[in-house]
Amino acid sequence: MRLSRYFIPVLKENPKEAEIVSHRLMLRAGMIRQQAAGIYSWLPLGLKVLNKVSDIVREEQNRAGAIEILMPTIQSADLWRESGRYDDYGKEMLRIQDRHERDMLFGPTNEEMVTEIFRSYVKSYKDLPLNLYHIQWKFRDEVRPRFGVMRGREFLMKDAYSFDIDEESSRAAYYRMFVSYLRTFDRLGVKAIPMRADTGPIGGDLSHEFLILADTGESAVFCNSDVMKLPVPDESVDYDNDELIAGIVKDWTAHYARTDELHDEELWSEVSDNQRMEARGIEVGHIFHFGTKYSEPMGAKVAGPDGKEHVVQMGSYGIGPSRLVAAIIEASHDDNGIIWPESVAPFQVGIVNMKTGDEGCDRESSRIYDALTAAGIEVLYDDTDQRAGSKFATMDLIGVPNQIVVGPRGLEKGEVEVKRRGQEGRDNLSPDEAINRFTT
Ligand code: ATP
Ligand code: MG
Repeated sequence: MRLSRYFIPVLKENPKEAEIVSHRLMLRAGMIRQQAAGIYSWLPLGLKVLNKVSDIVREEQNRAGAIEILMPTIQSADLWRESGRYDDYGKEMLRIQDRHERDMLFGPTNEEMVTEIFRSYVKSYKDLPLNLYHIQWKFRDEVRPRFGVMRGREFLMKDAYSFDIDEESSRAAYYRMFVSYLRTFDRLGVKAIPMRADTGPIGGDLSHEFLILADTGESAVFCNSDVMKLPVPDESVDYDNDELIAGIVKDWTAHYARTDELHDEELWSEVSDNQRMEARGIEVGHIFHFGTKYSEPMGAKVAGPDGKEHVVQMGSYGIGPSRLVAAIIEASHDDNGIIWPESVAPFQVGIVNMKTGDEGCDRESSRIYDALTAAGIEVLYDDTDQRAGSKFATMDLIGVPNQIVVGPRGLEKGEVEVKRRGQEGRDNLSPDEAINRFTT
């Protein structure tokens, strides 16, 4: 992409309304535009990152055996009356009436709807296990939307729902999602720690929140630092091997890791002093086994191998891609701007033409741009007539991980500079060597 033909409305000044660094940087880098409290437009750069995050989430859901669908944002209130949640949900639910005065709502989550789909089609245990997910906008009328897309009112969520014949297989479904979350966050370039979370009236140990450590996080976290050293399973992990998957979860849950909500001073005091880590964290994922909470009132049953009807066991599994974009920035930035992990970077390579209009600079910049683009690399070429200093600042602000600087003095020696965002030092290479670095 040539910057002169693109749309990145960067801000020079720090926006006053932004209290935390990710919000500030997302506004300054022209990624998002607030349209109302907690409601944002995603501008080209922001949308690119959001899509990359969603794609990784999708790939890892698919790998773990979940199947993608797409449910609507608008739901009928009747479904929520069936589960009993219509009255319970309170003011966070945006309630709407259509022209026929039918009660509708903008979905804050989809347990009811997915259960309705399930009960309409699935009648036998032979069709289980089943895990359906979608990546769709949600609306929750948060009391205090803040920190930009971190706590929005409209936000993107991946929500998966598992259906199983009995508790044991439901547990296995939960474990598969647990492992897929470890892989997802790892690929996103962040360390998200699973922490035991409240299961509410159902009880048991099957709810975990995944938190990224950051000073601006809204939750206080207490964890055994050993958890930071655990290996994340690679992509060859066999999701069909229930024992293996359960073993991975066991390793990850063996250490103390809780938020303030479930913090237990007595257990905490058993963790040795030098392993005790107290920090703040951002919740980016939440997984939950809730048994028959929705399947019972909504009549989601299948015939079991015994010929009898069984109410299915369910779980739900959420990740917030829009919050993640902000959380990744909280975890990865410096004074100059964002430092994108390679996997979600909007562009892999940036080219700074230090002197647009100079014949040599224009020619070599274009040549590098064309060669990298032809190799399938996403390149942002700053071909504008801004000052060199301002071009460097923009590249750093928007966090392009690899940068190639093409200037007249370097070209006299047959060289361009190649540097990595967030690292000291730079390499002087010939333009062809620079191309080769990224294409071979
Ligand atoms: P929180 O405790 O932060 O309010 P929650 O527990 O209500 O979140 P869940 O219902 O568990 O959220 O939603 C699943 C995921 O959706 C969360 O882990 C988070 O990543 C994302 N999410 C939830 N609420 C918001 C929001 N207001 N803005 C952005 N993302 C959100
Ligand atoms: Mg939660």
